[in-house]
Amino acid sequence: MSLQTDLIGLLGTDRVLASGLDRYLYGKDAGVYRGEVTVVALPETTEEVAEIVRIAARHGVPVVPRGAGTGLAGGAVPLGGGVVVATTRMNQIFEIDAANRCAWVGPGVINLDLSRAAEPYGLHFAPDPSSQSACTIGGNVANNSGGPHCLAEGSTVNHVLGLEVVLADGDVLVVGGKAPDPIGLDLRGILVGSEGTLGIVTKALVRLTPNPPDVRTLLITFDSVEDAAATVSGVIAAGLVPAALEMMDQRMTQAVENWLGAGLPTDAAAILLAEVTGDTPAVEAEADVIRAVATEHRAREIRLARDEAERALLWKGRKSAFGAVAQAAPDYYLHDTVVPRTKLVETMREVYEIGERYGLTMMNVFHAGDGNLHPLMMFDASEPGALERVHAAADELVELCVRNGGVLSGEHGIGKEKRDLMHLMFTPVDLDAQARIKEAFDPEGRFNPEKVLPAGSRCFDFGRPIPEGAWI
Ligand SMILES: Cc1cc2nc3c(=O)[nH]c(=O)nc-3n(C[C@H](O)[C@H](O)[C@H](O)COP(=O)(O)OP(=O)(O)OC[C@H]3O[C@@H](n4cnc5c(N)ncnc54)[C@H](O)[C@@H]3O)c2cc1C
Repeated sequence: MSLQTDLIGLLGTDRVLASGLDRYLYGKDAGVYRGEVTVVALPETTEEVAEIVRIAARHGVPVVPRGAGTGLAGGAVPLGGGVVVATTRMNQIFEIDAANRCAWVGPGVINLDLSRAAEPYGLHFAPDPSSQSACTIGGNVANNSGGPHCLAEGSTVNHVLGLEVVLADGDVLVVGGKAPDPIGLDLRGILVGSEGTLGIVTKALVRLTPNPPDVRTLLITFDSVEDAAATVSGVIAAGLVPAALEMMDQRMTQAVENWLGAGLPTDAAAILLAEVTGDTPAVEAEADVIRAVATEHRAREIRLARDEAERALLWKGRKSAFGAVAQAAPDYYLHDTVVPRTKLVETMREVYEIGERYGLTMMNVFHAGDGNLHPLMMFDASEPGALERVHAAADELVELCVRNGGVLSGEHGIGKEKRDLMHLMFTPVDLDAQARIKEAFDPEGRFNPEKVLPAGSRCFDFGRPIPEGAWI
């Protein structure tokens, strides 16, 4: 029987998609890469995921896990066909354990829906990617995603207590749990951030964080990007780790204002959105520290959000930034790299220089507090050579950040995008160690092939025969 017939036998015709349109739609995520889909499967249970993996193994095809497809590094893009396992229907919240501040959820639960469900208990899921109204917990776990409020709270890995995962042979593994210090090897830590290359997450036990008693949100306006960046370093140097410290440059605030009207100053060279949370005396004292540092760095205006409505609007402006860019150019490429906060000023200068050199308009909106840059290049993909210029500029941006002491990615993952740049950070020994882990979980290389680890990572074993059907 054919692959498609076997899958229909398991899921029925409604949950197996193979039309030209479906294969086109699932051939891409929110980034710039396009892949080739053989068939899309929409499971609803762990048992169905396990059986899909067994069917794919019988037919010798790869399996590519997918959440909402909002990833920007090509992680969910199938390279060379195979079954896309889209978990969007696995969106049950099985348990909210308010006493233990955690929840068991399906991988297809949308990030914001989890926080909304936890709200009556005074809790929320702390990782808050700007895509949180669309992206899934499975995608967050696989990419170890971050968000504006991960500066103080840490990225997804700090909020995953346990996982249920379907392995390459269809077995179901459960790692971690509610116990505070699980014993044994920390496979949970290995699986978080593995970008669908080791298994398919079918349930996650996530930590829920108490909602803060009080909050202050400051909008700070600067006449130069350098002063805004220096304020970020200054705030951290003053011993403060705010709940969020986000930066936008002028082009970005203009795009947001044109689209949304969030009340951002369009004549400022850069703005900072700073938020502190906690008890009232603490947030007032911390807001004062931020005011003092910003004033020292020539802030033009410091505005405190008057009420929850104004605060929500400012955050809506920040979190809608990428969407707002759509009115400025047909296509954009959003990058994700990290530099030490102390290198923000000089790195930002060079980021704009790279844009100018390649004739690309560069816009910036990013998690400044943890040095996580998101240079965004606007272009028109129909213009011959435009995408090639964008890729060349993107590689230079990564090289610049690594040279300045940073890392390849802050939160979007490696996927296809940065696979061939892994050597900038990892030695052959590092890559080999990671490839051995991949091989232990997925000996035939069937899960999400050609992602994360560059070809040849298993460097000390070139002489060994590669198993038949291996896709690494
Ligand atoms: C406008 C916009 C704003 C964004 N802002 C942020 C941000 O602030 N912070 C941030 O970190 N990211 C951000 N992102 C990137 C993206 O939203 C995150 O990486 C998100 O976690 C991806 O979730 P998803 O459900 O869309 O996953 P997908 O894109 O579908 O998949 C992402 C990766 O996860 C794997 N995967 C998905 N589900 C599973 C599963 N069940 N088991 C195993 N592997 C799985 C896929 O194979 C792929 O490698 C943004 C993206 C957009 C478009």
